[in-house]
Amino acid sequence: MIEPLRTALENHNFVPLRKYMQWCNEHYYSKQPAIGAMGDFITAPEISQMFGEMIGIWIISRWHQMGEPERWQLIELGPGKATLMSDILRVLKAQPKLFRGLELHFNEVSPLLRAMQENILSKFGVKAFWHDDLNLLAPAPFIVIANEFFDALPIQQLVYSMSGWLERGVMLAGDKLEYTTREISDPYLLENVNPSRVPVPPVPGNMIEDCPMLGNYLRWMLCMQNYPGSALIIDYAYTQHTYGDTFQAVHHHQFADPLERPGWQDLTAHVNYAVISDFARKHQLQCAGPIGQGDFLRRMGIEQRAQNLMNGPSEPLEKIGIMEAMHRLTDADEMGTLFKAICLSSPQLPMPEGFYAP
Ligand code: SAH
Repeated sequence: MIEPLRTALENHNFVPLRKYMQWCNEHYYSKQPAIGAMGDFITAPEISQMFGEMIGIWIISRWHQMGEPERWQLIELGPGKATLMSDILRVLKAQPKLFRGLELHFNEVSPLLRAMQENILSKFGVKAFWHDDLNLLAPAPFIVIANEFFDALPIQQLVYSMSGWLERGVMLAGDKLEYTTREISDPYLLENVNPSRVPVPPVPGNMIEDCPMLGNYLRWMLCMQNYPGSALIIDYAYTQHTYGDTFQAVHHHQFADPLERPGWQDLTAHVNYAVISDFARKHQLQCAGPIGQGDFLRRMGIEQRAQNLMNGPSEPLEKIGIMEAMHRLTDADEMGTLFKAICLSSPQLPMPEGFYAP
């Protein structure tokens, strides 16, 4: 059993879901190569370079729309194996003015992945910085990219019962972990999770989720009110406040029981994009989307790019691979609709490309 989970269970035999997910994932991301064929899951940039290339084209367009700032920051949250940023930088390199003024900033919890990112990205000759706290970034125009990042951040869950809302957590029963509930000890919990946002009254057993760290990142993004900024978020997401339990585990590319192997498998939850669009409305930020990843990539030109790659000097097997990758990224029964793009920006900016039909 990983620390500090073991100590917390010994002391209280109740660990709130948020803490369980946080401790497990911190351990998980710092201990093993999670992403890729040998790991537990494969992300969009690991499927094909076309994903990062489309994001690169999107960034160029957004930089133009932001008035071509001379000095600007490209910020990536949770860069994983740096594949996405490598594909993006190859595209950006073709734009000398944009590339000259570029500074890279990263937010990465795992020392293992951070070392890998430093190593891979040093080849591009761009100044790069890693931060635990984005509030320390100097004020400058910026673009944020977050692909499959927010789903890895810890969620809290409330469960409705005959006596009202209860907090969900885990406990040890014998030598196995089990779900349990307790009375809500922190009054802010009910306020933050805010079940009253769901338009249907709850019945016992209904669950509702909230990701407190998403709120922290959104509050940081309020700096978009002061200087030009834009954040492109892509994740598996739902778009309306609703009841449900999206807490899940993936181990060696298969769904698994989230309470098995704590700290040794990937724990995620779907991202509630209604929280993001509500936040934008409340603070008068521009919000584009959400739209399906498939529509977004097609509008950014992925079909044309796939065609060009296939017309290049590729073997027949590679050609099939390119088509397969494109379908995986864009088809409705693959990643095309479950994964969604949403974009928050400074209010004065034009609508970003990819979010409306050309
Ligand atoms: N964006 C990458 C990786 C997604 S996996 C891709 O598309 O391939 C999630 C990433 O977020 C990993 O790099 C992981 O280490 C990082 N991460 C998870 N929790 C984090 C946290 N609390 N703070 C910063 N980074 C975190």
